[in-house]
Amino acid sequence: MSRDDRSRARRDAPGSFRCCECRLDVSTVAPGTAHRNHCPNCLWSRHVDERPGDRASPCRSGMEPIAIAVRGHGEWVLIHRCRGCDALVANRIAGDDNPLLLVQLAVQPIANPPFPFEVLSGIISVPN
Ligand SMILES: [Zn+2]
Ligand SMILES: [Zn+2]
Repeated sequence: MSRDDRSRARRDAPGSFRCCECRLDVSTVAPGTAHRNHCPNCLWSRHVDERPGDRASPCRSGMEPIAIAVRGHGEWVLIHRCRGCDALVANRIAGDDNPLLLVQLAVQPIANPPFPFEVLSGIISVPN
């Protein structure tokens, strides 16, 4: 029985859910978002929605935060990838999400580039 199966058997209290990754009890009420769907501590989510807030997905697998994207107006969104079905979902960040983890995600491609950075100097010309 996996960790996921055990957490699935447990009923979440209304207005909160237990994080599938770090086991934190998380209130669904959060600053800056209508319905929180990910853990502010480790940023993991769970695949419960087909569309935001509908709780219609039968998947219920844990969703790993893999990237940060920035929408127009500078709104940060978290990209989650489902460990069960590989779905990719974008979620607004909440006002109390772990800022250190958010920044770690944002700089990950820079910290671990898939090619040597010297290559970039041939592609990007910086006007001066
Ligand atoms: Zn967590
Ligand atoms: Zn899924």
